[in-house]
This record gives sequence, structure tokens and C-alpha cells, in this order.
Amino acid sequence: MIRLDGDGASNALREQVTDAAAELRAGGTIPTLAIILATEDGGAVWYSRAIGTAAEKVGIDCRLVSLPADATEPEIGAQLVELARDPDIHGMLLQTPLPDGVSADAMAELIPAGKDIDGMGPLSMGRLVLGRPSFPPATAEAVVRLLKWHRVEMAGANVVVIGRSAVVGKPLLHLLLREDATVTVCHSKTRSLAEVSSQADVLVVAIGRPRFVTAGFVRGGATVIDVGTNAEGDGSLVGDVDEHSVEAVAGGLTPVPGGVGPVTTASLLLHTVEAAQAYAQAD
Ligand code: NAP
Repeated sequence: MIRLDGDGASNALREQVTDAAAELRAGGTIPTLAIILATEDGGAVWYSRAIGTAAEKVGIDCRLVSLPADATEPEIGAQLVELARDPDIHGMLLQTPLPDGVSADAMAELIPAGKDIDGMGPLSMGRLVLGRPSFPPATAEAVVRLLKWHRVEMAGANVVVIGRSAVVGKPLLHLLLREDATVTVCHSKTRSLAEVSSQADVLVVAIGRPRFVTAGFVRGGATVIDVGTNAEGDGSLVGDVDEHSVEAVAGGLTPVPGGVGPVTTASLLLHTVEAAQAYAQAD
């Protein structure tokens, strides 16, 4: 079985971003990402800092905008509107979870499509569905980048995605259709899930349940992409796929950590410099 790690794809993207950021800086534009955090959730705080560090390394400035974990919808909304108007900010990333009572959908509407580097707003999503230029949700895009990097054939392939969230399953359906895959999206109400998933040439799992997918879900030789990141009691991360069980049958499997995750981060950085390039060209 081949280990489909994210190192090659993410390193190539980071190099591309580093060059683009240097060119922007030389032309007087400092590519800048704002991360908005209104939670004390350990995972979200860690992830925000990690993106900030990764951004600085490739020449993107990062502004971490922290709001109290009990911030109200008007308070968070006002901050988003301010950042949306700020010409020095090119990309905006709103972290979840949001405080109780704050609507993620309402907040996503306040991020303009040109700064919506994680493709969460309705305009970004609508453009994605219609096949028009937009920033797709970075995790879904990372899955396709990873498959391309490892030269896994998507055109004509049967791809089964388990999970239909707005960040992974739904956008991935449209990205895979663009690659001419035949796509089936499964969810918690899917009947005979293992039977459906066993038809897949490529199986993508994004459900948030540690080690849920075992060998019985996988056709011999299939490529398996594990999007899941579940924190164990000892702080380690495990995927939605039971690696030890699946490695006996799969042709390829992404590791967790080190698979989809680094490519997701690199895709967010790429979107930020692309947003800054569009801003610089319009200026
Ligand atoms: P989510 O919003 O909770 O959605 C989970 C999806 O899985 C839902 O569509 C749900 O079905 C489905 N599901 C849950 N249990 C199922 C089961 N037993 N059988 C079939 N389908 C089932 O989760 P998410 O935000 O997409 O995240 C999924 C995983 O990916 C999590 O582990 C998360 O940490 C990880 N993640 C990783 C990255 C990365 O960059 N690596 C980024 C984002 C998320 P229903 O719709 O029917 O409820």
C-alpha cells in the first residue's frame, strides 16, 4: 500500500506562495491574512497560531483578531465588516466554534467573496457549484490537490465521499465533478454504507468519527483519503479511517496527521496571495 502523504503537494504550494508573496511585496502590496477567533477552544487556538506561523514563513502577514468567547453576533459582525472594508486585509478566515447563539451562516455572509479564502460564504459556494471562479473550501480543494499530486485518476472514476458537510462533502462533490469523476455522497442516513463505499475506486472519508472506516468498507486496491482529524485523550490525532485494518486492502491511504491537513493550510495561503494579487491588479 502506498502512503499518500501531503508533503510533496504542500511544499510545492508553499514555494509557489513564497514567490508570489515576494513579488507582491516588491510591488508594494503586503499580502495579509486576518484570522478571527471568538473561542477559547484549544484546537481552534492551536490551529489559528499554526496558520499564522505558516503564513509568516511564506511572506504573508497574519493579523490574529481575538474576540471574547462570549462575543455577541453584532460584535463579531462589526469586526467582520471592519476587516471586509480594510484595504490592507486580503484574506479573512473566521474560526469555529463560534459563541453560542452566533450564526455561522450569518457571519459567513459578511466576508466578501474576494477575501473569502475558505470559500464559506453563499457567493463563493454558489460560484463553485456553477463552475465559476471562486475560492473553494480549502479542505475540499486539498483532497483534489492531493489526488492530483499522487496521480490518482479521477476522470471516469467512481468516487465515494462519506460526509456531506459544507466544508468538505458538498464542495468536494462539485470539485470532483469538475475532474469528471462519478461521485456518490454518503451521510448518516445512507443505507448499507459499507456496500456503497466498497464500490469506490477512490473513497474520501470526512465524518469526524475516529477509526470508523475499516477494511470492510474498502474495495481491494482502492485509494482512501482520510480527512478526519480526531483528538485522542493523549492529545494525538487520529483519522476517520482505521489505518491498521484498511492498509491490508487499500492501494493507497493518506496518513493522519500529515495527509490532507498540510495541503489544506497551504491552499489557504495560496488563496490569500491570489486575493492580494487580484487586489493589487485592481488598484
Ligand atoms: P461535520 O460537519 O460534523 O459533518 C460530518 C458528516 O459526516 C455529516 O454529513 C454526517 O452526516 C456524516 N456522518 C456522521 N456520522 C456518520 C456515519 N456514521 N455514517 C455516515 N456518515 C456519517 O464534520 P466536518 O466538519 O465535515 O469534519 C469531518 C472530519 O474532518 C472531522 O474529523 C474534522 O475534524 C475533519 N476536518 C479536517 C480538516 C483538515 O484540514 N484535515 C478540515 C476540516 C475538517 P449527516 O449530514 O447525515 O449528519
